[in-house]
Amino acid sequence: MTEPGPGLDGALALIADVPDFPEPGILFKDITPLLADHGALHEVVLALAAPARGADGAPIVDKVLGMESRGFILGAPVALALGVGFVPVRKAGKLPRETFAVSYELEYGEATLELHRDSVRPGERVLLVDDVLATGGTARATVDLVERCGASVHGVAVLMELGFLPGREALGDVPVTTLLTV
Ligand code: AMP
Repeated sequence: MTEPGPGLDGALALIADVPDFPEPGILFKDITPLLADHGALHEVVLALAAPARGADGAPIVDKVLGMESRGFILGAPVALALGVGFVPVRKAGKLPRETFAVSYELEYGEATLELHRDSVRPGERVLLVDDVLATGGTARATVDLVERCGASVHGVAVLMELGFLPGREALGDVPVTTLLTV
């Protein structure tokens, strides 16, 4: 990780807007150009890890949780940068051992997320990482899963928040760090 980076603003400028994907009316935020640029990826990983560091730079969380699937891509390097473990939050039926499950409303229908019961221990503090905070349904369900484990959420860190949607409200008093609001 020695090459000069593009700076955080330059990194975020690599996110591409794709109109009408995956369906008409949705402006999809495509992070793959950012992921493909080492310097940009390095910048955003450090920035997403920052809210989980104390004043001395040491981690103040025990785990990083990433939500399927772009939260895996961003969350695992954030965990490595912090020096803590990574835990995947997966869609229903993907995790092989005993899970907690939480269902939440989508615009049409319902989705379920799962977490291995033993992946977060009682009393631990975790950072949630994802690419986009939209309605907040995914993050809210993940907060509920963490609390089912007897642990607590230190904060949610996302690349981007869709400011015209009530994602933060869904999260109540859980702190949200976003690198960009659109
Ligand atoms: P939500 O549960 O509504 O906050 O949606 C968050 C999840 O949906 C994240 O995991 C995102 O990856 C994805 N998502 C929602 N809206 C968009 C968008 N406009 N572009 C890309 N991904 C999105």
